[in-house]
Amino acid sequence: MKNIILLGPPGSGKGTQSKILVEKQGFFQISTGELLRETVGSGSKEGKVIKKLMEKGDLVPDQMVIDMILNSIKVNIDKSIIFDGFPRNLVQAEALEKSFEKESMTIDHVILLEVKSENLEKRINKRLAESEINDRRVDDNVETLIKRVQVYKEMTLPIIDYYEKKEKLIKINGMLSIEDVSRLINNILK
Ligand code: AMP
Repeated sequence: MKNIILLGPPGSGKGTQSKILVEKQGFFQISTGELLRETVGSGSKEGKVIKKLMEKGDLVPDQMVIDMILNSIKVNIDKSIIFDGFPRNLVQAEALEKSFEKESMTIDHVILLEVKSENLEKRINKRLAESEINDRRVDDNVETLIKRVQVYKEMTLPIIDYYEKKEKLIKINGMLSIEDVSRLINNILK
């Protein structure tokens, strides 16, 4: 069993690579973005608050996300987990670590998909061009992307340092093809 975290800026391909790992290697994916979109879809009061934050590209309050993650870990404790989009800041990274210690679980690798800011806009435009209007995420537009990249730099980049110090971090060039990135991830998991 292995537990991994996929890190990277919005549009770096975390979701795509997570899906490949789920299909080909039987990982269980925990994506906070997807869990939050489900809550938004439920139309609840909490969902409405979350929707506004996601539309602006802001992070959802830590406690909300941490509770979601801890519940999901508890019921999937026997699986290899891939964390996609979590943790997004130091508070979340520390909460994950504490919970893993309690359950005697470990994070095996933290894989960072590196993509330069100037390439992210091109990627999101491609994603928009290739998707149907009804399938688009509320935050898939250039304006929100710019905010999400800014939030990534301010809030998420510090956790790269955190995992580097713990000697868990492995960097991959996220500009390579989907197949090549997937091959590199598989090599790490061997
Ligand atoms: P993602 O699908 O990972 O790109 O996330 C989409 C949006 O969901 C983000 O821009 C945030 O508004 C929210 N979100 C996802 N994961 C988190 C997280 N770990 N902490 C706070 N907000 C999050």
